[in-house]
Amino acid sequence: MSCRILLEECMACGVCYAVCPTDAITGQDDDIYEIDPDLCNCCETYYEEPQCKAVCPVENEIVCDCD
Ligand code: SF4
Ligand code: SF4
Repeated sequence: MSCRILLEECMACGVCYAVCPTDAITGQDDDIYEIDPDLCNCCETYYEEPQCKAVCPVENEIVCDCD
């Protein structure tokens, strides 16, 4: 149960990084943003939906298996 970033279309804007409540997203320094599946909990107990996916400006850039 986690989300991942499809790097092909990622603009490295860092918005997902800024909103992640579990610090699962890395990449601020090298501009390659990735989600650690061991730290991502799909925002459970924090938000009603995965926030990284909700805020990402690129449609379908972040895919989640959260059900
Ligand atoms: S779904 Fe939530 S916990 Fe998982 S990477 Fe995105 S913002 Fe972080
Ligand atoms: S919000 Fe979307 S485009 Fe921006 S760094 Fe994250 S995955 Fe890439």
